[in-house]
Amino acid sequence: MTVNEQILEEIAACEKLLIGIGEEWKAEGIPDMGILYEKMNELIKDKDFFIVTTVTDGEILKSPLEQSRMVAPCGNATWRQCSKTCTKDIWEPGEIPQDVCPHCGAPLTGNTIEAEDYIEEGYLPQWKAFTMWLAGTLNKKLLVLELGVGFQTPTVIRWPFEKTVSINKKSHMYRIHGKFAQLPDTVKGKADAVLENSTEFFRKL
Ligand SMILES: [Zn+2]
Repeated sequence: MTVNEQILEEIAACEKLLIGIGEEWKAEGIPDMGILYEKMNELIKDKDFFIVTTVTDGEILKSPLEQSRMVAPCGNATWRQCSKTCTKDIWEPGEIPQDVCPHCGAPLTGNTIEAEDYIEEGYLPQWKAFTMWLAGTLNKKLLVLELGVGFQTPTVIRWPFEKTVSINKKSHMYRIHGKFAQLPDTVKGKADAVLENSTEFFRKL
């Protein structure tokens, strides 16, 4: 059986599906990103899944993937915040026509970790939903797909996912990355490394 067939079989068989999306999924330079997310939705829409992404371009929000089942801890550039952080308000795209803070008049900026003073309230409600979901995976057959997560922000997905896999006896992980697919001993026997760019791999899945 090929790795692709194995993954498809495990998606069908798992009770919980955790997906991590990292650096390789930045839409910049990938013209068909929308198609990849649509494909992901087709593959997983009937599963009990949760997606954690460090990508901040907001492309995933345009996809049909269920938004109550995803969290973007590094933020979302299409959501706007005050560049001076005079308020914790966060606005949807186009909600403030001039892109200027209605409280203090400062320009708005993307609600991401790139902002000088990142307003974390944007993702915290979904983070709460995620931690509750994750707590419910402990004794369940858990499949973890880690797609293109390197070492830009390893504390968000990479290291916590390794820990999740190491403590769940029924878990299995695929770490797919063009350069950094290596696995630590803590997940030995419970994880497979696929050394291939994860968007290219996913396109062929
Ligand atoms: Zn302001």
